[in-house]
Amino acid sequence: MTKPLKLFVKSFGCQMNVYDSHRMADTLAPRGYVETNTAEDADLVILNTCHIREKAAEKVYSEIGRVRRLKEAAAAAGRRLTIAVAGCVAQAEGEEIIRRAPAVDLVFGPQSYHRLPELLDRAERDGKAVDTEFPLDDKFDHLAPPSMQAVRSRGVSAFVTVQEGCDKFCTFCVVPYTRGAEVSRPVAKILAEIERLADAGVREVTLIGQNVNAYHGEGSDGRACSLAQLLERAAALSGIERLRYTTSHPCDMDDDLIAAHRDLKKLMPQLHLPVQSGSDRVLAAMNRRHTRADYLDTVERLRVARPDMALTSDFIVGFPGETEDDFASTLALVGKVGFSGAFSFKYSLRPGTPGATMADQVDEDVKSERLQRLQAAIDASQQAFNRGCVGRTFDVLFEKPGRYDGQLVGRSPYLQPVQVRAPASLIGDIGAVTITELSSNSLFGTLAPESAHENAHARAHVPALAAAGV
Ligand code: SF4
Repeated sequence: MTKPLKLFVKSFGCQMNVYDSHRMADTLAPRGYVETNTAEDADLVILNTCHIREKAAEKVYSEIGRVRRLKEAAAAAGRRLTIAVAGCVAQAEGEEIIRRAPAVDLVFGPQSYHRLPELLDRAERDGKAVDTEFPLDDKFDHLAPPSMQAVRSRGVSAFVTVQEGCDKFCTFCVVPYTRGAEVSRPVAKILAEIERLADAGVREVTLIGQNVNAYHGEGSDGRACSLAQLLERAAALSGIERLRYTTSHPCDMDDDLIAAHRDLKKLMPQLHLPVQSGSDRVLAAMNRRHTRADYLDTVERLRVARPDMALTSDFIVGFPGETEDDFASTLALVGKVGFSGAFSFKYSLRPGTPGATMADQVDEDVKSERLQRLQAAIDASQQAFNRGCVGRTFDVLFEKPGRYDGQLVGRSPYLQPVQVRAPASLIGDIGAVTITELSSNSLFGTLAPESAHENAHARAHVPALAAAGV
């Protein structure tokens, strides 16, 4: 029997990359590759990169430096280690990666994962291979489905890509350049993938896309299907108990999608809805295509549809031209919405985006100081939301063993991690948990008797939201 080849994939960035990393592993499985948790004993290391964060390319080069030393050690021991760079930095940098880091054998963009076996052959034959094309064919048609064993090893909650790319062209963002124009997968293929996940024991599916609520895939009647319609179809599948979707653009929160939060029991009351800034001037400069009032109106409509809706968001501070008044509007928006959490970053320019050449770049010290204030406001909002959960009983999906014996970690409907003393046999089950205490990042709870079970779809009163004036 031939020895299996070992594959180590390191994912940077968002859930889309985690999903892509799984699909790369699935594509290589028929070639005899099995995943390993360490780069040290790998035959192939793939760095699946992200271009969103500051100095993304520099971080990738320093990571390549670390793997290069492993490659040298492997060669000294008579073993071959292939290094591949994938993802958005690969797409943006292309051949430049091999020029700057000759230890890299293979560079390929997000649209080329299905050609990975062929690219590996090419790298072995020719020494190097680079593929950063945007092909017209659908890569999902060519990607190998995951084995049941692979799905089971990844847990009871899974991502399914339904849409890729973005047509919005926010002036700070590289995604439209690295991931290309919006493409939606056909409904039938998505549902088939979800059914397969359900058969393997997955209970929660998060539909993902760079601009997921712009989804408009082909339905069985040949007509475009919206995300709301897709969610309705997915909710009808047995085995899947929870649905989520991310990441959404405020402009694409249409009435049907908001109504889905009211009507679909399986759709969780949690939404990541990036706003980036609370100032109309800055939103216009970012080309976000909505105002502060539009955003707040969407929040209100969501909370009319689903009063216990937990909202998270993304913020950028120090966008070119942002004044103290603009920033004050952002802080005020955080107070008004009562977010259950948010990611926040200092603006850092991305070469090739309009923001990079804007006048009035904000001083780094000013950005740092504003970020601190913003993060304090977000933390306070998150803590208030979490405090509002103490004493409540709600459904938790048990995902994996906790840090201590006899403990499980699960997710609340609002996506908070919840630590509970419960037997391992409950992994994959959904059970009623009463929240008893908090730490900075987690909730702690106890299994509740079924009679205490709060209907997960009940219009629960969330004290933190009331306190936030929502
Ligand atoms: S909508 Fe999101 S992915 Fe698209 S350009 Fe704006 S920030 Fe980037």
